[in-house]
Amino acid sequence: MTEVDVAIIGAGAAGLAAASVLATAPLDVVVLEAQGRIGGRARTVALAGLPLDLGCEWLHSADRNPLVAAIAARGLTIDKTPPPWANPEATSNFSDAERQAYGEAFAAFDERVAAAADDPTDRPASELLEAGGRWNPLLNAFSAYYNGAEFDQVSVKDYAAYDDSEVNWRVAEGYGAAITGLAPKGLRIVGDCPVSLLRHDGPRLALETPRGVIQARAAIVCVPTAVLAAGGLRILPELPAKLAAAQGLPLGLADKVFLKLDEPEAFAVETMVYGDSDRTATGAYHLRPLGRPIIEAFFGGAHARALEAEGPGASAAFAIDELVGIYGSGLRSRVSVLVQTGWASDPWARGSYSHALPGRAGERAVLAAPVNGRLFFAGEACSPHAFSTAHGAWETGERAAREVLAALGT
Ligand SMILES: Cc1cc2nc3c(=O)[nH]c(=O)nc-3n(C[C@H](O)[C@H](O)[C@H](O)COP(=O)(O)OP(=O)(O)OC[C@H]3O[C@@H](n4cnc5c(N)ncnc54)[C@H](O)[C@@H]3O)c2cc1C
Repeated sequence: MTEVDVAIIGAGAAGLAAASVLATAPLDVVVLEAQGRIGGRARTVALAGLPLDLGCEWLHSADRNPLVAAIAARGLTIDKTPPPWANPEATSNFSDAERQAYGEAFAAFDERVAAAADDPTDRPASELLEAGGRWNPLLNAFSAYYNGAEFDQVSVKDYAAYDDSEVNWRVAEGYGAAITGLAPKGLRIVGDCPVSLLRHDGPRLALETPRGVIQARAAIVCVPTAVLAAGGLRILPELPAKLAAAQGLPLGLADKVFLKLDEPEAFAVETMVYGDSDRTATGAYHLRPLGRPIIEAFFGGAHARALEAEGPGASAAFAIDELVGIYGSGLRSRVSVLVQTGWASDPWARGSYSHALPGRAGERAVLAAPVNGRLFFAGEACSPHAFSTAHGAWETGERAAREVLAALGT
């Protein structure tokens, strides 16, 4: 394995997509993956007999998401039940008046974003919040879930560039499991094999790993921006524009807690509640997703970071406290914690999904650009319009693989 045609670094959605395209060509391809599992931020675990998605869960823009057909073709179940956030009446701890007022504030903010997107200069999306607006804390909580960061850290131009058909489906068996199931048969994947250094100044690329140096004619870098920015994969000679792009596209943070309900029938299926609509540091709780006996708690941004920093158990304890505030103290003895995520603490992710800092929306194209016809880049942060998603990552992997085929004349 010391010499290959193409080395793919990272076996997340982007790396697996690249491998799928390259599998059709007469090339010697290897995927080098830091962890002992594939999928990266696409990860389903089975607990209490339930497939739980710790990372991606929703097939966003499902009516045009290329993964829908591929997953359905494997015999998995595409569930088309709409998400509770698309149905304001599903937010069960809002009054009708609150629902309407929040909906109007949200729509007005969106309109201001759309209008500002074409301005010559970019700015933080927080500047478009209504001064002193009643719903600003909850709008910022939304940003924390959606972008992984509050609006003051989010570029208006980048936020507006995300293209969402607002059709969201799920895979009953788990989106993570579905994505790892798309790895092509016979693919050579080397696990527990982090690439620490990629040199591109010799006749062949040289990739340093704990299993020795691997030489390649071309490489596709599919690691998260936060890993690149932190030096988790160094590239020499340095590529300052790539490093700056990775820094301008940090990974925001979103974390989940899955709680098991002893008496699930007391909760309406596919509904949601906010812990406290007056605060940004609050959870969004999805009750009984797919009718299952669980509550899925979602935290984002600075609040999720603070909970992770507090240590194991903090986000679950916070979730239960907020739910007790809504449903009463009897809930405490009727829920148990199944699992909670810590994506910021994962050294091979260092966060959940990318957002562009104000003024940095152009970095996605910089990050995605090939270098010298043999170094290629993929991953959700490289996607121009579907960044932060699994299908966006998949599309960039396919694109990078096609660039490799063209560059190698295959
Ligand atoms: C909590 C959460 C909820 C989400 N919800 C959704 C959702 O509902 N819908 C959706 O579409 N998306 C969602 N996403 C985002 C989606 O999961 C990601 O955008 C997508 O999976 C990223 O794929 P990727 O291939 O770009 O990166 P990754 O999946 O991060 O893959 C990168 C791979 O590279 C490996 N790696 C890192 N460094 C090295 C190294 N030095 N050497 C070798 N290997 C290395 C990692 O271990 C990893 O396997 C969510 C993410 C999170 C965390």
